[in-house]
Amino acid sequence: MSFLSKIIPERFRRKKKPIELKNNLPKEKANIRKSFGVYCNAHHGTSDGKLCPKCTALLATIMPKMNRCKYGLTKPICDRCDSMCFGPEHNKTFMTIMTGSRKGMLVKHPIMTVKHKLVAMGVDYAKNEQSKKATEKITEKRKAKIAKRKAQEKAKEE
Ligand SMILES: [Zn+2]
Repeated sequence: MSFLSKIIPERFRRKKKPIELKNNLPKEKANIRKSFGVYCNAHHGTSDGKLCPKCTALLATIMPKMNRCKYGLTKPICDRCDSMCFGPEHNKTFMTIMTGSRKGMLVKHPIMTVKHKLVAMGVDYAKNEQSKKATEKITEKRKAKIAKRKAQEKAKEE
């Protein structure tokens, strides 16, 4: 026990925060639902964030798939996912709707959109770091190979 922990009563000591497992799913679903509303209202003649039958059907198809996301609770946002799981045709329509609703979302749901954007940037950052690390690893391996070859050549010469 350290000196400090002896003189500070336990309840005043700063507790170590447990690692938070954020459940991104509800937020992501809400964002997608709103994006669909914005897009559908602008393109399919609906209003008040309501959806046409086609968009309703697509939403009903993708929501259960989101529950089974292989990334689990910490899932990234769907329109930045590197392995979208809605099926090729649905993936395409989904991306059209998410991309097409971006401007409208910013007008109608600015805070939600900015938050979503921040998460997206976080995902992009993480991906970037990942690929950087991967590249570093490859470069290191290559360097090691070259060094080995040089050492072997030297050994032969001698
Ligand atoms: Zn629609």
